[in-house]
Amino acid sequence: MNSLITMATAEGDKLEIPIPYSSVKFITEKNLLNDWQETWDGYDSESGRRTRDFVPKVNGKFLVFSKYLIFFLSGHGPFPYYLNRFKKLNSSSCPCGSIGDVDHYVFRCQRFPSEGTNSGSSVGVVQKFARKQSVFGN
Ligand SMILES: [Zn+2]
Repeated sequence: MNSLITMATAEGDKLEIPIPYSSVKFITEKNLLNDWQETWDGYDSESGRRTRDFVPKVNGKFLVFSKYLIFFLSGHGPFPYYLNRFKKLNSSSCPCGSIGDVDHYVFRCQRFPSEGTNSGSSVGVVQKFARKQSVFGN
């Protein structure tokens, strides 16, 4: 490997790029974003479709680092509906009797009525993120 590098720097042809470096960078970033968007749009799964409903366009400035926001966006998290799919929980229902998916806990369940009373729990944090519309660029 080192000998190839040495050979390339000593004997290789100098490459002239006929456009400025900034143009190369711009075109490369544009192509990467297009490829990323194509992959994003092509991910055909329940969680992929759900996430695209909230985040339809890829953006390098909107990267999600919060596990709670990922729970909400994907629907994958400590919810009975999700855990039951993988046989980690016997029932997919919330203790109130409804299907225990993320939307139920964030928007409908009377047992978890507001983020204030659940602020320390996973449900409370997910509710807090989900109810802040600005998180999704709206
Ligand atoms: Zn419930």
